[in-house]
Amino acid sequence: MSSSDTPAHPTLAQVVRALDGLYPPSTAEGWDAVGLVAGDPAAPVGKVLFAVDPVATVIDEALDWGADLLVTHHPLFLRGVSSVAATTFKGSVVHRLLTGGCALHVAHTNADAAPRGVADALADLVGITDRRPLEVSAAGETHELSHGLAPGAGHGTGYGTDRGIGRVGRLAEPTTLADFARRVAAALPATAQGIRFSGDPDATVTTAAVLGGSGDGYFDAVRAAAADVYVTSDLRHHPASELRERAEFESRTAGASGPAGTPFLVDTAHYASEWPWLRYAVEDLGTALAADGLAVEARVSEIVTDPWTGQVPSR
Ligand SMILES: [Zn+2]
Repeated sequence: MSSSDTPAHPTLAQVVRALDGLYPPSTAEGWDAVGLVAGDPAAPVGKVLFAVDPVATVIDEALDWGADLLVTHHPLFLRGVSSVAATTFKGSVVHRLLTGGCALHVAHTNADAAPRGVADALADLVGITDRRPLEVSAAGETHELSHGLAPGAGHGTGYGTDRGIGRVGRLAEPTTLADFARRVAAALPATAQGIRFSGDPDATVTTAAVLGGSGDGYFDAVRAAAADVYVTSDLRHHPASELRERAEFESRTAGASGPAGTPFLVDTAHYASEWPWLRYAVEDLGTALAADGLAVEARVSEIVTDPWTGQVPSR
């Protein structure tokens, strides 16, 4: 830190260290590709832009603003590539970032799982209290063991049972499914698809589960948690239909001894369920850097990167 009162800018390596403290890479899913994608760890970082997707309009925004680092939720590359020539759209993203002096860092499923991560941000917005992960992060436990940390001994709120996939808990007050869906619509950024729901609009919901992004792989966990309603994205016809049919059939035939829960479904645009986390990331990066006497100017991209751009109601 300099002798003046103005906090110094960190290097890219220092920002990455702060981000990895908030979202440990070891807590990412095994198939994921998180961490630094482009950039020189020794370069100074003054401006950081956070966005959901590393798409062309977001790259434009980062370069126009003079960002030194773009942090996105979704990876630019999930699988290996043999070329980053500017003749492909992903190669051109890499070229534009490097030419413009902007690094790229990804915090994906490690940000989903983290305290104050994607799932927690969504749970806060829809008003879920007394919450826990739908599925506690196995990777988080590995991290805990590999570092010899007791639960809660790491950065922030620790690597204990508050880290994992999705969140489930109580709503502050029981409400109807329709009112709950309206609350979700009001809380999330506007997208063309709006909010869809499945179930009786007048039914009472008391407990809710949320999972930012594509969540139809976690229906069993939602049912086991006995959530009245499940908020997630990208719900497809067959998984949604079969969940509702199976749960209703089993609750009729097995009675009280059967598997609990016939969750109503609330489906949002994928982008919309993940975007709320970005504000937390800006705040938490600032706090983490400040602890070392460092500071950046950070902000959230307001560009809607949902690929669906229009919708007309059917008759
Ligand atoms: Zn996603």
